[in-house]
Amino acid sequence: MADLKRAAIITSGGDAPGMNAAVRAVTLTALRNDIDVLGFNHGYQGILKNSFKQLEEIDVRNIIQMGGTIIKSARCHEFKTEEGAKAAAEVLDRNEVDVLFVVGGDGSFRGACHLSNYWKGQVIGIPGTIDNDIDGTDYTIGYFTAVDTAVKAIDKIRDTADAFDRIFLVEVMGRLSGFLATAAGIASGCEQIICPEINLSPDDALPRITETIRANQNRRGAASYIMVLAENYWPKGVNDLADKITESIDIDCKPIVLGYIQRGGVPVFEDRILATKLGVGAVERAMAGEHRVMIGEVSGRINSFPLDRTGDGTKHVDKELLSMQRRIFEGCNKS
Ligand code: ADP
Repeated sequence: MADLKRAAIITSGGDAPGMNAAVRAVTLTALRNDIDVLGFNHGYQGILKNSFKQLEEIDVRNIIQMGGTIIKSARCHEFKTEEGAKAAAEVLDRNEVDVLFVVGGDGSFRGACHLSNYWKGQVIGIPGTIDNDIDGTDYTIGYFTAVDTAVKAIDKIRDTADAFDRIFLVEVMGRLSGFLATAAGIASGCEQIICPEINLSPDDALPRITETIRANQNRRGAASYIMVLAENYWPKGVNDLADKITESIDIDCKPIVLGYIQRGGVPVFEDRILATKLGVGAVERAMAGEHRVMIGEVSGRINSFPLDRTGDGTKHVDKELLSMQRRIFEGCNKS
């Protein structure tokens, strides 16, 4: 057991809905166990600037439903150096911090490992990113809300697409993975999902994309047609791919970038519950002496996972979902 007197918490890197719920859960659980909590502002940047607020119960009251993060987030290049990590360690020691909770993605966790090379305190990660691209947890805080936001937006695009029988190409976030594209595509009934996990190079993908559109148009006649594209998959971006599709099928394909709306909004209940479980679990595991781990959830159970392996990329999009989505449309083509 670790005798913890004071904890610090940061939210770092890309913000995600539900980060506040995690801050709340960590703070309340720590306070119940007589551990002070310092909320450093703007991620690692706030530690370097010694900018924090001691969080009391009243500070985290009624924030479970708020998007964004009350302690702010940031990216901080200065921290990445040896001097940066040593300076951060000095600030944490000066404030007598025993454990640092880092809510963020794999970049923020690399930062936590970097810090722990120079700091004797415990570091614990809590996965908060809309991309869901973190190993050691089935889902990340923010992913469910981002999918929900994308689905609601695509539903609206469907209405207007349907009125004119238009073809749309909708780019969603996801960094280098297709978790968000796949879930949003399935849940909004999109005709095609285009993401790295289709295992085709962009050159090979283009003929398949256009052939699939043609086959569907031939079978159904004029009808709305929506494709979801994972950001960063098409090298020259969504506008270029939409142009190429338009050129090839000779029907206008309209590009749309959903962009930052996917990062905002009221967190859905799944993110609030996940954030609460992981926040409580993180404090309890820290009290048990755990260090350099991320607290995730695997098959419904709280799981400690080595912080330096969270970015290994061993978690994959469910291939069955992608295959099923294609089977739905290939089946239609045959009818
Ligand atoms: P995310 O946590 O969403 O993946 P980033 O990759 O932008 O976000 O990382 C957030 C911050 O974590 C960076 O601005 C930097 O301060 C820190 N960080 C990221 N990678 C490293 C690294 N390799 N070494 C030290 N710090 C890092």
